[in-house]
Amino acid sequence: MPSSAASAARTILTRLHDVMASRSHAQAKLNNVVEIIGEGLDSEVCSIYLLREGMLELFATRGLAQEAVHVTRMAVGEGLVGTIAQNIDMLNLAEATAHPDFSYRPETGEEKFHSFAGVPIVRRERAVGVLCVQHAEPRRYEEVEIEALQTVAMVLSELIANADLVDEEQALLGPAQTGPQHLTGLSLVKGLASGVAVFHQPRITIEHTMAEDRDAELQRVYLAFDKMREQIDRMASQAEFGVGGEHEEVLQTYKMFAYDEGWSRRIIEAIDSGLTAEAAIERVQQRTRMRMRQIDDPLLADRMHDLEDLSNRLLRIVSGQMGTAASMGLKQDAILIARNLGPAELLEYDKRRLKGVLLEEGSLTAHVVIVARAMGIPVLGRLRSLRGAVREGDQLLLDGDQGKVTVRPNQPMLEAFDARFAKSRERQAAYAKLRDVEPFTRCGTRITVLMNAGLRDDMPNLALTGADGVGLFRTEFQFLVSATLPARERQTRLYRDVLEAAGDKPVVFRTVDIGGDKVLPYLRHNDGEDEENPAMGWRALRVALERDGLLKVQARALLEAAAGRTLNVMFPMVTEPWEFDAARQVFENQRAYLKAQKKKLPDAIRYGAMLEVPALAEQLDVVAPRLSFLSIGTNDLTQFLFAADRANPKLAERYDWLSPAILRFLKRVMQGVAGHNVDVTVCGEMGGRRLEALALLGIGIHRLSITPASVGPIKELVRKVDLGEIGKAMTGWLHAPPPNLREALLGWAQERGIDCD
Ligand code: PEP
Ligand code: MG
Repeated sequence: MPSSAASAARTILTRLHDVMASRSHAQAKLNNVVEIIGEGLDSEVCSIYLLREGMLELFATRGLAQEAVHVTRMAVGEGLVGTIAQNIDMLNLAEATAHPDFSYRPETGEEKFHSFAGVPIVRRERAVGVLCVQHAEPRRYEEVEIEALQTVAMVLSELIANADLVDEEQALLGPAQTGPQHLTGLSLVKGLASGVAVFHQPRITIEHTMAEDRDAELQRVYLAFDKMREQIDRMASQAEFGVGGEHEEVLQTYKMFAYDEGWSRRIIEAIDSGLTAEAAIERVQQRTRMRMRQIDDPLLADRMHDLEDLSNRLLRIVSGQMGTAASMGLKQDAILIARNLGPAELLEYDKRRLKGVLLEEGSLTAHVVIVARAMGIPVLGRLRSLRGAVREGDQLLLDGDQGKVTVRPNQPMLEAFDARFAKSRERQAAYAKLRDVEPFTRCGTRITVLMNAGLRDDMPNLALTGADGVGLFRTEFQFLVSATLPARERQTRLYRDVLEAAGDKPVVFRTVDIGGDKVLPYLRHNDGEDEENPAMGWRALRVALERDGLLKVQARALLEAAAGRTLNVMFPMVTEPWEFDAARQVFENQRAYLKAQKKKLPDAIRYGAMLEVPALAEQLDVVAPRLSFLSIGTNDLTQFLFAADRANPKLAERYDWLSPAILRFLKRVMQGVAGHNVDVTVCGEMGGRRLEALALLGIGIHRLSITPASVGPIKELVRKVDLGEIGKAMTGWLHAPPPNLREALLGWAQERGIDCD
C-alpha cells in the first residue's frame, strides 16, 4: 500500500502520462487508464463512468464484466455512481449494498465486490463522470487512497475533455437551463432586487493538470503566493475599509490565512504528486470544500470560506486569468453569484450597480453578510444548485423577504415582481416620511420605538429610521468578527464611536452574550467538552461571571467610553437575582477603580436585566427594586417557555408568538414590575412584526426595540392604534382564549383597517 497520497498519485500519474501522450484511440486510452489505476491502488475493480446523453455510462472497467461496457447506464442521482455525480462528492463504503442508494446491475457481475469508493470527475465545477474502485474484501478505503483517486480524477477530466468524450455543452448546461425556474434559499439580508446574473469569478479553466517540470511548477506557485500576500497586505492597509472597524478585524483574519504554512505545504505536496500549480491549488481547494461541508460549527465554516476566497485569488494569479467581475466593472444592474465571497471582494464592486448577492453557501454570521447588511444589499444563501441553474447574463429576481430567487422569469412573473417592488418602494417612501414623526397612538400615548444594533455600521440607521435610540446593542458581534478576543482599547473605541453616533439618543449596551449558537473558537469551556444543549448551557452571563476577567475588561471599556454621559448596561440571561447583583458589582468595582485613578466617569449608570429565562419572572418582586429597566428577550424566552430550540427550523411552525401562553406570561411580567420604577422593553424579533406588536401594545408594553427595517412599519402601526380598544380586546382573549388568537387578532385589525402584513 502506498505510504502517502502524494506518492500513490505520483506512481499512477507517471504511468498515466505516457498513456495520455500516446496516439491511441480514446477508448483504448481509457482501458489502459483503468488498468493503471486499479494496479496502482491495488484494487480488484476500477471503472470509469462518463456522462453521455444525460446518462452516466460505463466507459471502461477493470474487474467488472466487459459486456457491461457501454451497456450499464445510470441516471444522475441513481445508484451510487449517480449519487456521486449529483452531489459532486465522493463515497467510501465498506459494504456498498448497505447504502440506501445502491442499485444492483446484474450485467456487471459486481455481486462479489463489497467495498466501494468513488469520486466525481469534475469539469468546470460540474460532474462529467465518476471514477470508482471496488474490492471483494469489505473495508473502507484509506484516506490516502481516496486522495490519490481524487488527484487522478482531476487528470482524467483533462483527458476526457481533450478526447471529446463527453458532450461538455450538454453536461454543463442541462435542459433545465432554458425556462423560468424558482430556487429557494436562506434569507441572509432582506430586501428585493432585480438584475442580470454576474458570476463573481468567471470560471477558470485549468488546461493542464499534469506537470512536465515539477521545479518550474513549484517556482510558479511560490511567486503566486508572494503576489497574493502582497495584494492582501495592501488591501488590509487601505483606509477605506474603515480603520478600527469590523472590516479591519476581518482583514486581519484574512491575512492570517494568506500566510498559513499548512495551506502552502499542502499545495506543494500536491505538486509533488505530479500536478501542475493550478491543478494543485484546485485539488487542495476541493479538499477544503469537502472538509467544510462536514464542519458543523458555523463560525469555523465562515473562516474556511475566507480560505476558499484566497485560494481563488491564488488560482487567478497563477493561471493569469486575473479578472473578477469587479475588476471588469458592472455594466448594468447586477446580482452577483458566487459559491462564497470574501468581505473585501464584495467591497470591490460598484455599489450603484450591485443590487443583490446569491451564494451557494453563506450564513448569518458570515463576514460577507455582515458587510452586505451594512451596505443594504439583499443576500440569499444556501442555494446549493445555484451555479447549475443559472447562466451568466440570465435575468434574476431576488426576493430576500421570502428567501427565493426567480431565474429567467417570464412576463407574468416580471409583472408580479414589479408590482411587489413598486409596493415595497412606496412603503419604504412612506416609512421614510415617518422618520421625524413621533409615534403617538390614536389615543395620545407616546410609544418608544428603539432599534437593535451590533456593529458600528448599523449606527447610521438611527438617523435614517428616526428610532428613539438603541434598545439593544449586541456587544458580542464585535467578538464574533474578531479572530481573537478584542482588546479593551478596541472595545472602548467601538463603544465610544457608537455613543457619539447616537448623539443625544440613548444606547443600551448588552454585555457579551456568547455561547449558545454564538461560539467563539478562542473561548472554550474549561473542560473542552461540547455541550449537548448549548442554548441552555454555558453562555451569556454565566460565562461572564465565571470568566470575570472578560466582564471586567468590558466594564472598564464601557465606563471609559461613556465618560460624561449616562451609561445604560444590561445583562443577558439573568436567571437568579444574585447574578444581576454580581454582574453589577463587577461594574461598581471598576467604577471605584477608575475613580481612584481620577479618571472621568459616566454621569450616571443605569443597570438593567434581560428577561429571557422564565425563572427570573418568578422573582421579579425581589429583583425589580434593583433595576432601572427590564428588557424582555422574547427570542430566548419563547424557546425556553415552549421547550423549542429557536435555531431548529423544524420547530419554527410548532409555536406561535401570538399564543395565549406567551402573552399571558408577558402580561404577568408587566404586573410583576408594576409599582416599581422600571422601564420594560421587548427587544426580541417579535416586537418588529406588526401583528405581534399590536398584541404587545394590548397587554401594556409601550417600549419596543426592533430591527431597523421594522421601525417605519411599527411607527405606522402605532399611529393607528387605540390602546383602550386593543387592551380591552386582549384582556377578553387572554381570559377566554379563542381557538386561534392570531386569526382573531388579524380579523380585529382588518375590521379597523390596520394593515398587519
Ligand atoms: C432575545 O433573546 O430575544 C434577544 C433579544 O437576544 P438574542 O436574540 O441576541 O439572543
Ligand atoms: Mg437572547
